[in-house]
Amino acid sequence: MESLSDQIRSCRLCAERFAATATGHSPRPVVWFRPGARILVAGQAPGARVHDSGRPFTDPSGDRLRDWLGLGPAEFYDLSRVSIVPMAFCFPGYDARQADLPPPPICHRTWHAKVMRELGAVPLTVLVGGHAHRFHLGTRSSVTETVRAWRDHAPRVFALPHPSWRNTGWLKKNPWFEAELLPVLRARVQEVLND
Ligand code: SF4
Repeated sequence: MESLSDQIRSCRLCAERFAATATGHSPRPVVWFRPGARILVAGQAPGARVHDSGRPFTDPSGDRLRDWLGLGPAEFYDLSRVSIVPMAFCFPGYDARQADLPPPPICHRTWHAKVMRELGAVPLTVLVGGHAHRFHLGTRSSVTETVRAWRDHAPRVFALPHPSWRNTGWLKKNPWFEAELLPVLRARVQEVLND
């Protein structure tokens, strides 16, 4: 029987939606998870570079996220350690301002529960960006409020802003994120990897 990962790789549910975007691209699901992983990175959706590479976070956002986690590429891309499950597995395209469109809800409606069932319990979940916060925490708070309340969910869950260059100003305005949250997150990453 076809594995869940292969079923998702074959998914073309959003073909018409993506064809109607400015990029007119075809679905290319980027699937990166395996049961037994110690860390779940719950992200938003692949960007254009990841759409091209077929590997999650192969872009400057990924460099920043790996720095936040204190992981090099070899550990980050080790499927026995890290699973990466976004709200949508494909690049959604751009809006009129050249920002990424939101992840199509049909993706998490179709796949998310199945993926979570297959993954089972994961000791550390890292939520990346507001879409992931809202879905996994059921919150309606702003990204800043949710991240600022990180102690409410640690050490099993850490809510982070998106590591995009667009949030560089946010990082400057919120120095507590790097000074207080990141050292605890990095220690937790090492703890679950070495457990
Ligand atoms: S975004 Fe999700 S639902 Fe849409 S084509 Fe890709 S895998 Fe399928």
